[in-house]
Amino acid sequence: MLKDIEKLLIEGNFQFQSKINQNPENYSFENKIPKYPILFLTCMDTRIDVHQIFQFNPGDVFILRNAGNIYTLDIMRSIIIAIYKYKVKYIIVLGHLDCGMTKLNIKELRQRLSNEFLKRLSINYSDLLSKLYNFFKPFDNEIRNIINQMNDLQEIKAYFPDVEITGMLYDIKSGWIFTKEDFRDLLIEENHSKIYSGLLYEKNQQLSKSLKASDVIKQASEGLVNEIQVNELNLQEENDFLEKAENIIEGIGDDKFQKAVDDEKDLFQIKMPKIQIPKIFIPKLKVRIPSSFKDKTR
Ligand SMILES: [Zn+2]
Repeated sequence: MLKDIEKLLIEGNFQFQSKINQNPENYSFENKIPKYPILFLTCMDTRIDVHQIFQFNPGDVFILRNAGNIYTLDIMRSIIIAIYKYKVKYIIVLGHLDCGMTKLNIKELRQRLSNEFLKRLSINYSDLLSKLYNFFKPFDNEIRNIINQMNDLQEIKAYFPDVEITGMLYDIKSGWIFTKEDFRDLLIEENHSKIYSGLLYEKNQQLSKSLKASDVIKQASEGLVNEIQVNELNLQEENDFLEKAENIIEGIGDDKFQKAVDDEKDLFQIKMPKIQIPKIFIPKLKVRIPSSFKDKTR
């Protein structure tokens, strides 16, 4: 029921609003120009969350999506606007493994499409199948498709030579991203699984190294926190002591202070044990020094 769907969406939006209320600073997006000049062309597959994969925030990048991350006329329209108006410089075709477009059976689909729609594609039905392939653009190999889309996108470079185009492959099952340099080798069909397990192994090795490194940093920073806490404790004790010292001196009163100053002209020689004047020379001690005392020391 559409009403149930609407309810679900409105509830979700309430949760979003409560997050905005908690951290409004995270949700102010004044600048329409993206933080990074990147545009992703990716598949509409619901398992792809570009922001999660690369740890982006709203306002960071452009994302265009369609079935199979295909460069079409409408994608071209959006890309030109993104380059011209929003200073995009890098276009990344983000394809993925296990793409539904490799399993799209056009002949089967044809049986389920209405005649009205089929008529729209082909008036005389003679070339209907090729028209259907051309319209839905299924493919056999996700990697080859990324390379094909990158090649088609070169057209954009004719109009905007500074724009750079590349491709990436996302493995939905593992969450790993592979660059063009990595996945080109995967096209060698007979070695496919061997090369792929090699790439995954390499990635996991890198991860375990970086996890170990971050563990060391974490431990070091925990050590630092403990040290700071100890220092803070010491500082607290020191402050308590200084406060007491200050109270004692304040308790002496200006008159006595004045008398002490009068008694001893050379105060800095510390010859006044009776009123414990040396305490005013304790480092960091903030003592209210009577103005008359300051005058005498000039
Ligand atoms: Zn897909």
